[in-house]
Amino acid sequence: MSASHRIVQVALPGPFLSPLNYILPAGIENVCAGSRVKVPFRNQTKIGLVMRRCENSEYALEKLKDIQAVMDEVPIFDAGHLAFLEWASQYYHEPIGEVVMAALPKRLREGETATKQGQEVWALVEGARIEISARAEIQKKLLWTLSGATDSSHPWQGEAVSYSVSSDEVLVRNEQLRAVSSAWRKTLSKWQELGWVNQSQTHCWQATQLPPRLKHPLNFEQNSVVEEVSDWIVNQRFGSFLLQGVTGSGKTEVYLAMIERAISQGKQALVLVPEIGLTPQMVERFQAYLQVPVATLHSGMSDSERHCAWQVIKDHEVSVLLGTRSAIFAPFKSLGLCILDEEHDLSYKQQDGFRYSARDLLIRRAAMQNVPVVLGSATPSLESLHNVNQGRFTGLYLHKRAGEAQLPKVKVLDIRGESIQEGVSAPLKSAMEEHLNAGNQVLLFLNRRGFAPVLMCHECGWQMSCPSCDANMTYHQGVYGGYLQCHHCDYQAPEPTHCPKCNSSELVKIGQGTERLEEAMKLWFPDKSVLRIDRDSTRLKGSMEKMTNLAKSGQADILLGTQMLAKGHDFPHVTLVGLLEIDQGLFSCDFRATERLAQLITQVSGRAGRSEKNGEVLIQSRHPQNPILTQLITEGYAQVAKTLLQERQLAQLPPFAYQILIRAEANDESLVREFLWAIKAGLELALQPKIQSEKTASSFHVWGPIAAPMLRRQGRFRYQLMLNSPSRKLLHQLLSAIEPAIYKSPLTRKVRWSIDVDPQEML
Ligand code: ADP
Ligand code: ZN
Ligand code: ZN
Repeated sequence: MSASHRIVQVALPGPFLSPLNYILPAGIENVCAGSRVKVPFRNQTKIGLVMRRCENSEYALEKLKDIQAVMDEVPIFDAGHLAFLEWASQYYHEPIGEVVMAALPKRLREGETATKQGQEVWALVEGARIEISARAEIQKKLLWTLSGATDSSHPWQGEAVSYSVSSDEVLVRNEQLRAVSSAWRKTLSKWQELGWVNQSQTHCWQATQLPPRLKHPLNFEQNSVVEEVSDWIVNQRFGSFLLQGVTGSGKTEVYLAMIERAISQGKQALVLVPEIGLTPQMVERFQAYLQVPVATLHSGMSDSERHCAWQVIKDHEVSVLLGTRSAIFAPFKSLGLCILDEEHDLSYKQQDGFRYSARDLLIRRAAMQNVPVVLGSATPSLESLHNVNQGRFTGLYLHKRAGEAQLPKVKVLDIRGESIQEGVSAPLKSAMEEHLNAGNQVLLFLNRRGFAPVLMCHECGWQMSCPSCDANMTYHQGVYGGYLQCHHCDYQAPEPTHCPKCNSSELVKIGQGTERLEEAMKLWFPDKSVLRIDRDSTRLKGSMEKMTNLAKSGQADILLGTQMLAKGHDFPHVTLVGLLEIDQGLFSCDFRATERLAQLITQVSGRAGRSEKNGEVLIQSRHPQNPILTQLITEGYAQVAKTLLQERQLAQLPPFAYQILIRAEANDESLVREFLWAIKAGLELALQPKIQSEKTASSFHVWGPIAAPMLRRQGRFRYQLMLNSPSRKLLHQLLSAIEPAIYKSPLTRKVRWSIDVDPQEML
């Protein structure tokens, strides 16, 4: 073999525009693309992934270093998956090494062998007699789960338990126990000492206990949607579908029927859901319908659990993977169907580091693997609707709610001149009384956590702001007394007793946050229970789970919270939804703000009347005549989306144009501007040879450098450069042309910068 054949391109994490070249030394016979290798790099040993063997090196051969060791005899990614990762690297202008590392579970990144390992499982010991006191609710729940139950309601409410373990042993995974309580391990260790439970190791996912079968017969609309996609599933062809169905129309049921068909073809399915949508109940619903184990990948899992899930999917021991954003990178042995629920959800966009969109990547992946992809939402993004209009996606529709449920009545409450207490207008308050007296639940939506957004001096008008950001600090009540927190950098400070400017002690809390609303509701409705759901109240692991269960079972009368409440949860006893302070979404400088607001209002409204009871939605506004708000209420989301698309077309904004945002920040403001001005100059230079026609020149715009909406954050000054063009190709060509210069710029050592392709937020 000639020396040239022994050159191997290795993807290493770091700011490298392409893989690095290494030599395969005499001692190592072969290495395949897709295998991990150990290589020397700047006096260190690093783990990288072989992308390919190649003929020549642009660098002098004698300068290349030897590969130290090959870590995988069998590649961990096949050729198709490597091609997908390379595509992602090019499209997002992200170094291939960073893409590869994002695609690997942590254990593999750190060098663990890529073989299946055992997984911890627990079983009750036959003949043991388990005694639990009446008050130990969590212990009872753990016992209930260990006994093989798959529902959460145990039969021992309020009683002491004496339980004899019979012979049929059930293996229960850590994940199932964690769903009961974050403190599960402490209890089980004690029970182990008492001889009540045994711990053992099992093969990954083998211990899945399937719940009893639960499957609704599809209604007519659901059935025709499934039939329409069926051809693509059976014949394994690429096609993109957008399933538009109002909240509660039975989209999940449709996905399940499609997955069932893929499985019956001997294929696997990848299902992506938003960060907050992946709950143990959802996994249970999938398993109850499909009667096969479902693997999961999400941020709440331990590294070893992720590793395990990755392996069973790669080896096709499990047919369905239900995961959040990063599950897009999981390797499949025979992928046959891709599904993405709530496709408008922002959590599919990674907002730092490697800034990819899992939705857009999923479509690419389906195309490369020649399988169908189904996106679903009650409020599809304008991008996806545009794709339907252009014929790139096939639109599928569910018009009615499944079962008996009706869509709620929506009304705007004109609050100009109304008496308003604690942010709640008199008519909303009386509607609350009415619904609560009828024994129903009420949901209040306020997208601002904390107690009050502003702490102000009554004498001189001073406001407490963050020392490192251009932002006010939010007042929080706190268990141990009040404190202030910056919601942009998390900096905290104690509550001041006096104004630092005029020394007045009259400091007032201005505006409404969820904590303040909670306090007011407890005061107004002392005999009702109030549940606040926001980032602060759900910080503990498992608490979101606990709260949504309380909310669903109807035990909490008043639910209030931020947009965490808007996402996918089904609260069957809620009959009134009130939305407070939505007006600022009507007048934001972000061109996507109205789209987001229309989605949010529709989604929050969809929480009402999910069962037989009719629902009502009241939106408080000082701009009741706003055309978008009016159209949303009278004609619905689909019509609003049409209007917004027309506006975008006139303004030549996405989806009628493409954007790339280059962000930069540093402590020194002038360096940031200098850095971005240099990029702008480079782009304009690169554009010169391309200006054959007036058209090219006028269709490419660089806006900026302009200050970010919040100029200073965490002490750094932030600027951005926005590239905009109806030609995606031109945009990417120009950026690629100047990229080497950006990477080489000495300023990159002082300026933090990033490229955001198809940016979703201007922050
Ligand atoms: P979506 O995902 O569109 O919000 P789901 O699939 O969760 O809707 O369905 C909403 C509710 O309707 C669920 O409780 C589900 O079990 C029920 N459901 C769905 N399809 C049917 C059907 N064909 N018959 C009866 N109930 C159904
Ligand atoms: Zn003052
Ligand atoms: Zn701050």
